[in-house]
Amino acid sequence: MTYIFAAPPTPSVPILGIAERFPVHRIYCIGRNYAEHAREMGHEPEKGAPVFFMKPADAVVSDGRNPGFPMATSNLHHEVEMVVALSGGGRNIPLEHALELVYGYSVGVDLTRRDLQAAAKAKGNPWDTAKGFDDSAPIGPIVPARGRHPIGERLELHVNDHMVQGATIADMLWSVPEIIVELSKLYELRGGDLIYTGTPAGVGPLQREDQVRCSLEGWCELEFGFHG
Ligand code: MN
Repeated sequence: MTYIFAAPPTPSVPILGIAERFPVHRIYCIGRNYAEHAREMGHEPEKGAPVFFMKPADAVVSDGRNPGFPMATSNLHHEVEMVVALSGGGRNIPLEHALELVYGYSVGVDLTRRDLQAAAKAKGNPWDTAKGFDDSAPIGPIVPARGRHPIGERLELHVNDHMVQGATIADMLWSVPEIIVELSKLYELRGGDLIYTGTPAGVGPLQREDQVRCSLEGWCELEFGFHG
């Protein structure tokens, strides 16, 4: 195949302990997946239909690279999230087979231009510019599941060594298998898909000079600042 100019590279994420990398196909995200976070955003937690949105695959930031500080915002927020990495996919996946599609787990930050999100919500407009911008998906290394799955691990985010988000993933309203089932009713999932599984309470602003450190207990860590 020849292209009119060099094809963009496949975005990828390192895998802990091996040289091969995880090629990113799509980045799916779920909103309002922790009751206390739903409340801090002004919503009563409910388990009606999950709130899904996407980021572009090349929004991932990994390998110790620092994201650029986003354009066009004066209220950038952090949202620490467990990230699920799929090695298989399909449509209408049955609940009992959902975890078989999981390759591994990581910790990531769903960077959010909260001011643009608030403006979009007020007008009933889509969230794309608030969520799907360049470098909006920092992510740690993917840790292969090898038959283990997080159940009650702590998820934490520290800004300049102060803990601002801390919760257990047992508090997720939609579990990982349930998220996979629901997503696969809307999209054909594929190996290479990443799923950001929602953030606990404590979201807040980030400044250019801030240093962010987050962890999924017993699995992995992620640390970054901003450049530019
Ligand atoms: Mn989020």
